[in-house]
Amino acid sequence: QDPFPAPARIRIITIANQKGGVGKTTSTVNLGVALALYGLRTLVIDLDPQGNASTALGVDHTVGTPSIYDALVGDSTLTEVVHPTTASPHLLCVPATIDLAGAEIELVSVVAREHRLRRAIEGYIAALPPEKRPHYVLIDCPPSLGLLTLNALVAGDEVLIPIQCEYYALEGLGQLLNNIDLVRQHLNPGIAVRTILLTMYDGRTKLADQVADEVRNHFGDVVLDAVIPRNVRVSEAPGYGQSVLTYDPGSRGSTSYVEAARELAHRGVGLPPIDRTSTPGA
Ligand code: ADP
Ligand code: MG
Repeated sequence: QDPFPAPARIRIITIANQKGGVGKTTSTVNLGVALALYGLRTLVIDLDPQGNASTALGVDHTVGTPSIYDALVGDSTLTEVVHPTTASPHLLCVPATIDLAGAEIELVSVVAREHRLRRAIEGYIAALPPEKRPHYVLIDCPPSLGLLTLNALVAGDEVLIPIQCEYYALEGLGQLLNNIDLVRQHLNPGIAVRTILLTMYDGRTKLADQVADEVRNHFGDVVLDAVIPRNVRVSEAPGYGQSVLTYDPGSRGSTSYVEAARELAHRGVGLPPIDRTSTPGA
């Protein structure tokens, strides 16, 4: 197996969709594991108080575990809350504990509250020697457009939106795109939707094809060619603290996530540089 090509620069990707159950966490975890297994250093940041990404990566997230909460609300550095994973030595994870549920409110009185995650990631990267810096940082957002997701949109260089191939798939998407526009205008001029991933595709239904066509017509090239099928192995894996890639490497769920990650990686080779110093508030 050839390793995936390294991106032109560190890619900080915010995985967002304010709808729950569309595959944000599943995609974050499985893309993260795929990138790492194919040689790219990857950091997954769990930003959902439910901690589902932490669970799926086999990382403890009981209260008291050093977590993203301590970096956002407390004064821990990200370095202090990064944990190894069993999936790959190339894959690290910042878990989320249930404390994070209170962060939306606690952050309100914090200085530069929308910039907390961005500052934490920048500090983390700056403290590492270049050969240890992640190629990819994947941020798994909660199913809302509150202060946590806002932090993730300010921290990211790009957004990946998973879209479930079901009824009402596009409902609410306008609201998310609006928020991304606002963040681009006021807080993070570089942010753009660079990737859309179709998830839970059921090839037996006409509806799934209709949704997929509609999304491709509307969003064009940012939609990955790879589509994630609905596959029971994908939903079983987290129960074993695993990604589907390690749980059942031969499953269609696993091979489709590897394909999606490969495409993501190849698209990352020619990315334009980002001048982070031009960011307001930096
Ligand atoms: P979100 O993070 O957007 O809320 P999840 O990634 O947690 O969504 O997915 C919601 C549910 O659907 C989970 O139980 C997950 O295991 C299941 N699921 C996600 N993707 C697939 C898939 N391709 N096939 C089958 N089940 C899936
Ligand atoms: Mg989730």
